[in-house]
Amino acid sequence: LSVSDLVNESYERIGQVEDKVKSFLTLNEEKARSQAKELDEKIAKGEVKGNLFGMPIGVKDNIVTKNIRTTAGSKILENFDPIYDATVVQKLQDAETVTVGKLNMDEFAMGSSNENSAYQATRNPWNLEYVPGGSSGASAASVAAGEVLFSLGSDTGGSIRQPAAYCGVVGLKPTYGRVSRFGLIAFASSLDQIGPITNTVEDNAYLLEAISGIDPMDSTSANVQVPSFVNSLTGDIRGLKIAVPKEYLGEGVGEEARNSVLEALKVLEKLGATWEEVSLPHSKYALATYYLLSSSEASANLSRFDGVRYGYRTDNAANLIEMYKQTRAEGFGDEVKRRIMLGTFSLSSGYYDAYYKKAQKVRTLIKKDFEDVFQKYDVIVGPTTPTPAFKIGEKTSDPLTMYANDILTIPVNLAGVPGISVPCGFANGLPLGLQIIGRHFDESTIYRTAHAFE
Ligand code: GLN
Repeated sequence: LSVSDLVNESYERIGQVEDKVKSFLTLNEEKARSQAKELDEKIAKGEVKGNLFGMPIGVKDNIVTKNIRTTAGSKILENFDPIYDATVVQKLQDAETVTVGKLNMDEFAMGSSNENSAYQATRNPWNLEYVPGGSSGASAASVAAGEVLFSLGSDTGGSIRQPAAYCGVVGLKPTYGRVSRFGLIAFASSLDQIGPITNTVEDNAYLLEAISGIDPMDSTSANVQVPSFVNSLTGDIRGLKIAVPKEYLGEGVGEEARNSVLEALKVLEKLGATWEEVSLPHSKYALATYYLLSSSEASANLSRFDGVRYGYRTDNAANLIEMYKQTRAEGFGDEVKRRIMLGTFSLSSGYYDAYYKKAQKVRTLIKKDFEDVFQKYDVIVGPTTPTPAFKIGEKTSDPLTMYANDILTIPVNLAGVPGISVPCGFANGLPLGLQIIGRHFDESTIYRTAHAFE
């Protein structure tokens, strides 16, 4: 099999299903095909290196790609062609993967269904009337539909794990600091992480290995050794200590999600692990804390979109201030505006102590909940989401029910720990996900557990 064959298959599949699934915002076909030819020449010369050589990949559209349009799902970046590659993209190029195209997303990664994209609503390949999740909905859908072998997403409050669960694929949010965010269009900088979405745990481990590591261009990337994640896939989880938070199986979590986790725990027990119920007592504050902090950070990060430095500029302005206002009024969608307003409010003097500062304090308590549990247990296990995917249009009129979707994924970002979603049964023909959460920088134990379970 040549790289050209592989890339060809990818575009053929895209041709077959894309009008239904709608994953891609931009295809990179010409460059991908010529790159495939170059890689085939390398094969002929015996210059194949690494496990990812020639693999077709899709990249979420908030990760900048040199000379490939990058919109972040927003009208304000409709014609934005970056002049550099994100570090993760550069690393994938070093690994000789082939970028097939850029994947749809909720605008600036704000959303749980891909319905907040300024361009199109991606659909769930398992049932086209349902959402694929979000904000990396198309990153998950494209892998599930066989359009690409794997993809990159980003996860601020669940945006890799929730769509992976909804689409029946494997998605990991790495530890905060594990993967460079240089070239990731920032949403909430204290929470954002880039991570891999794949069909199998093994693929996921290979991909994470390729994109991890300290980066001088991102001061928050950590100087921590990157182990061989693939070597941790031993199949042996005897003696593993699992914690199951009672808050993750309680009120608000659907019957089907609860039962699928209980079944999964039986499987893990058979493999030699033990589990006990624990408590993460501050979980009930996580959603409010997250929406306050992430919106505050977003309001600051998105101030750079002013019609001067990037992308869209209004035609209808008489002076500079009007130009800023009109550009942002026309360029941003409703959800983005809602969050900028909330964030600006919570950061304003007079409200800062009551909202932003208080939320920071609660965040510390949430982080401590995890630290306490990890004193005694190796991993935390629960559902990825309270229910399977919902119907397109079902939650668009009520942002708060949309936010409630993230209740089980958000605490992980607030704590900065890594978490994976692996497929775990079905409800009404739609996939469910099992979430496995680990200690800081212990993706290896997560992968070992997920691989044994899968
Ligand atoms: N759905 C969450 C939100 O809307 C999470 C988004 C994300 O992780 N990027 O903020």
